[in-house]
Amino acid sequence: MSDTHFDYIIAGAGAAGLSLALRLADPAFAHKQVLLLDRSSKRENDRTWCFWEKGEGPFESAIFKQWSEVSFFGPKQPMSLLMAPYNYKMLRGLDFYEFSLQKLQASSNVVVRKAEIYDLHNTETGVEVSSSEGSFTADWAFSSLLDNEEIHAAKKSDFLWQHFLGWQIKTDKPVFNPAKPIYMDFRVPQTDGSCFVYVLPFSPFEALVEYTVFSAEVWDKTLYEAGIRAYLQQYFGLSDYQILHVEQGRIPMSSHKFPVNEGKIVFVGTAGGQTKASTGYTFTNIQRHSDAIVARLMQGKSPVVRKSPWESRYAKYDHTLLRVLVQGDYRGADLFERLFMRNPAARMFDFLDDQSHFGQELLIMNSVPRLHFAQAFFKVLF
Ligand SMILES: Cc1cc2nc3c(=O)[nH]c(=O)nc-3n(C[C@H](O)[C@H](O)[C@H](O)COP(=O)(O)OP(=O)(O)OC[C@H]3O[C@@H](n4cnc5c(N)ncnc54)[C@H](O)[C@@H]3O)c2cc1C
Repeated sequence: MSDTHFDYIIAGAGAAGLSLALRLADPAFAHKQVLLLDRSSKRENDRTWCFWEKGEGPFESAIFKQWSEVSFFGPKQPMSLLMAPYNYKMLRGLDFYEFSLQKLQASSNVVVRKAEIYDLHNTETGVEVSSSEGSFTADWAFSSLLDNEEIHAAKKSDFLWQHFLGWQIKTDKPVFNPAKPIYMDFRVPQTDGSCFVYVLPFSPFEALVEYTVFSAEVWDKTLYEAGIRAYLQQYFGLSDYQILHVEQGRIPMSSHKFPVNEGKIVFVGTAGGQTKASTGYTFTNIQRHSDAIVARLMQGKSPVVRKSPWESRYAKYDHTLLRVLVQGDYRGADLFERLFMRNPAARMFDFLDDQSHFGQELLIMNSVPRLHFAQAFFKVLF
């Protein structure tokens, strides 16, 4: 085995890189040498993933909390959403990193190295990566490195940032219902784009409270902080609490077609277009994409996964929804309220996860404001 040549190089050990590396650590790939590179040793709890899943998933033992029912507050109407057949799951970044890295350490074919990647390019025979730890070659590379130029291009299409700041807080009073998180609460001022708060309760005394905005520009930190403070005061009567942890981030929501591959470099994660344009959800798409890559490799095919025209309809719906949000003449708060009011939760969660069938999609189309959606759909198509 060479120290510098591998079958596969994975550039970036975030959600996508680690998800793929775990699958390639399977004994079925024992004869393939894999190098996973990241500038970070992934020892920080830098994000919290929420997603819905049927039954047990590959990260079940790392799941921090899961719920079978969630609350939704539209501007006019509160709702209780039963998640069945799904569960709403919360996975802390650090738990995911530790779970994955521990498994990879025990594998015989995946090498994890901390390195800053400077360049990744195709060669005549495969790919070459230059990094702070030297140069490495491989037959294929999988990259989740998000290119600034790609974001720049994305901004030229329908584009919004989903940006947020969250506090994990501890209170003296038992105010949270640990059995029921708040999935979206739109009862906050809709001043700049679509704004909502979500609350993930760990106990009656502890929760992650996150202020989220879909808008063209990210906010100054103080604005989210003021929003969380006002929300906790108004809806939980809280003015006194301890902030244990702060989480801040932004996710591109865009109709831009992120490239699937460039020669033998396959793009994964957000960089590979796995972020859902209308909601920012990415984690589940990453799992499906990783499964599809590995299935192709197992069959001796190239790892480039392309959607069929029929599967591509989900992207069209998604872009239509994003377009309505970008246009802003029908508020996101009213739109999500209407969708959840007129459809059973399971249908909505199937749809938001690109798992709906055409019959369900017709029912959802029938529940949206027709004029706004027809105009947006027409623009997306033509
Ligand atoms: C705070 C936050 C919360 C989120 N919550 C959710 C959620 O609840 N549900 C959901 O579905 N999605 C969520 N997302 C969106 C999405 O799931 C995450 O962004 C996810 O981490 C994307 O995975 P990725 O592998 O594409 O990118 P990342 O996880 O960001 O991984 C990229 C990796 O590349 C490394 N890297 C970058 N450049 C270099 C370089 N030059 N050299 C070496 N290494 C490099 C980084 O260190 C990083 O580890 C969230 C995003 C954020 C930021």
